[in-house]
Amino acid sequence: MSGQQMLKFVSIERAMPEKRDANVRRHDFHEIYAEYAHEKAREQAGRCSQCGVPYCQSHCPLHNNIPDWLMLTAEGRLREAYELSQATNTFPEICGRICPQDRLCEGNCVIEQAGHGTVTIGAVEKYITDTAWEEGWVEPIAPAVERDESVGIIGAGPGGLAAADVLRRAGLQVTVYDRYDRAGGLMTYGIPGFKLEKPVVMRRNEQLEAGGVEFVLDCNVGEDISFDAIRGRHDAVLIATGVYKSRELTGPGAGSQGIVRALDYLTASNRKSFGDDVPEFDSGELNAEGKRVVVIGGGDTAMDCVRTAVRQGAKSVKCLYRRDRANMPGSQREVANAEEEGVEFVWLSAPKGFVGDPVEEVVVQRMLLGTPDATGRQTPEVIEGADYAEPADMVIKALGFEPEELPKLWGVDGLEVTRWGTVKAEFTTGRTSIPGVYAVGDIVRGASLVVWAIRDGRDAAQAILEDLAAQPAVAAE
Ligand code: FAD
Ligand code: SF4
Ligand code: SF4
Repeated sequence: MSGQQMLKFVSIERAMPEKRDANVRRHDFHEIYAEYAHEKAREQAGRCSQCGVPYCQSHCPLHNNIPDWLMLTAEGRLREAYELSQATNTFPEICGRICPQDRLCEGNCVIEQAGHGTVTIGAVEKYITDTAWEEGWVEPIAPAVERDESVGIIGAGPGGLAAADVLRRAGLQVTVYDRYDRAGGLMTYGIPGFKLEKPVVMRRNEQLEAGGVEFVLDCNVGEDISFDAIRGRHDAVLIATGVYKSRELTGPGAGSQGIVRALDYLTASNRKSFGDDVPEFDSGELNAEGKRVVVIGGGDTAMDCVRTAVRQGAKSVKCLYRRDRANMPGSQREVANAEEEGVEFVWLSAPKGFVGDPVEEVVVQRMLLGTPDATGRQTPEVIEGADYAEPADMVIKALGFEPEELPKLWGVDGLEVTRWGTVKAEFTTGRTSIPGVYAVGDIVRGASLVVWAIRDGRDAAQAILEDLAAQPAVAAE
């Protein structure tokens, strides 16, 4: 009977799917968690207390109907659980893998607050949709009617693809342009396979293509085709280009050989996983094998770099971060994973300069946390006279990303940007300062999360549908 399988959190302890041993997983790029066995997924879903006011749901950017799909899973009604889960999330199995759940749904689960350990929402979400793929429940998009209006989407990351999915289901003609040779954005070339295996992303690209979404790849808008030409081809245009300009290091020797950008490094590694020809990897420039690697930064990109370097067979991997562990932006779960895999974190340290070209040493200055700034965050201050030399053959810069200046890059008049260079757009609709042009994801928010890009893409697609419907009638069929 409905609900009988639930509220098991007192008798059943929280259990994640099995995590592969660090000594095994550090040698490959496969995901580190196994899939739940069927009974385990049911059992873990049954720990949910079915809150009347589910905080998990309100802290999920997509407002997923978590308590209901947990109940359906606990009752073994997996197909219904899948239908419900995919109704609010374009890529549930991807979010289940890579959302920082500890900061979103799971971090706000009342059971966690009551000291019983959160319901493993992400792992169950992944299990439901992975099962749906295995069982053949995930079908190609089949619009009930074909419509004449067309939408051009620039950028095939999660923001652009989520919008493409909604628009195509409504019968619109959708073309996605991307400068890369594969769709998926950072899900394909940024995030490493040990967090998100590439076939999981590729099957989504194939599903969209099979459903009639047209992909124009290897097409750099602004170079291969102008933004105006794209506007001329479509009734609406969505910008979903992400943020790619790396923050750079300063100081003596910062331009030396062997100092590389995080995204160049991760992209090369991901391309190798696809079996691509990557000369910069083969030459050793973007390969950490046998090297003493120092990664600079404390965010999730830095975590992905250190763990990639371990897998490539680096001699040693150290991560320098100017604040302490409690004040780092990256996920604590990822730090723990990295430490298990052999990464050494050097907290309260920052590079002052570099010796050698190619690089041989990082001159490291020790820091302390001083007075809080306007946001209340303590500012790192240099401890004078405490510098030391850290030997390094490869230094990876993972200091964050900024938006490229699109209006200038594309020669677009009237596209307003914020003072941070992100495109100015309404958060709930993606409407920009140019009628018929929308923007979503990182290019609007700054570097953010896949789940937020999906949310934006879905919202903007709805706004596009409404705006097109408000225009003079367009032929159906
Ligand atoms: P993107 O995914 O960046 O996609 C933009 C697309 O636009 C790209 O394919 C690009 O090629 C294309 N493009 C750009 N300019 C042009 C142009 N001129 N012409 C044609 N195409 C163009 N988020 C999480 O939720 N969990 C994580 O674990 C996580 N890990 C991350 C790890 C790394 C290393 C990085 C860098 C980011 C990570 N993120 C993570 C953040 C997440 O990947 C992004 O927030 C998300 O991908 C943003 O989606 P988007 O669609 O806005 O842009
Ligand atoms: Fe949690 Fe992300 Fe899934 Fe929402 S989409 S339920 S935040 S894992
Ligand atoms: Fe279930 Fe936790 Fe969500 Fe409550 S907050 S409905 S216990 S998952």
